[in-house]
Amino acid sequence: MVDLPEALLLAEQMNKEISGKTVVNVTLKDYSHKTMFINLSPKEFEQQIKNKKILSTFAKGKWIFSRFETEKILAIAPEMGGDILFHKNETTIPEKYHLIFEFDDETFLTLKYSGFLLMRFATQEELDETRYPGKIGPTPLDSEFTFKKFAIMLDQSNRMIKSTLLDHGQVPGLSNFYLNDAFFKSRIHPKKKANTLSNEEKKDLYNSIKETLKEAIKLKGRKERKDLYGVAGKFSRMIDSKCKGKLCPNCETLIEKLSVAGSNNFICPKCQKLD
Ligand SMILES: [Zn+2]
Repeated sequence: MVDLPEALLLAEQMNKEISGKTVVNVTLKDYSHKTMFINLSPKEFEQQIKNKKILSTFAKGKWIFSRFETEKILAIAPEMGGDILFHKNETTIPEKYHLIFEFDDETFLTLKYSGFLLMRFATQEELDETRYPGKIGPTPLDSEFTFKKFAIMLDQSNRMIKSTLLDHGQVPGLSNFYLNDAFFKSRIHPKKKANTLSNEEKKDLYNSIKETLKEAIKLKGRKERKDLYGVAGKFSRMIDSKCKGKLCPNCETLIEKLSVAGSNNFICPKCQKLD
């Protein structure tokens, strides 16, 4: 998946490479309405983007936004991952991709997704009204994401802490991948009810989420993902599938795999107690 660290890195690199360039050609390849969710037909999409200049690119949450001179914005979220790659010339264009842009200086950008792809080409006002991306609130690294707001969000939920945090729009850019480490660092069980956390636990979790994301940004994203130039990130989780059946680095208890709210978590049952 693309979360905040990966989206920020890709957007920064895209901003450097494609700002000020005009799209001379854009092609959707192997279009499937079952896995590519676009607000326009492939023909309309290509027509509206062709011969338009890109002004800038930025990220918010797991979304990457490219602002065009027409005041429309291209919003992309490769939900389950994939590659967005820049090519100085056509020699490095991969055999398989789903979207290609050719720019006026004969450079290219390709996008290949796995799972499914959400994409919109619309004005900011139109994007704000959609369910996805909708209006994206502060991400954990924005100054508006204060501990006070975080604590209120938890106090108002009697659902599991994991479901509370991963609900759409609650904490933009954060998925189970990074949250898993934040739970381990703050010694919180993902099934614990959000409104039962003590003030100290809330603070630890809040800080762990920020720390984990900052560390991932410093290491240029997770090692399973590539940047715009095809270089893999260096972040690997403290506790993941490799740790199952191994001992907790803190207390030497066996690490357990747990299915919680539709995805797996790895926990130390002694450090991360449910009660
Ligand atoms: Zn432990």
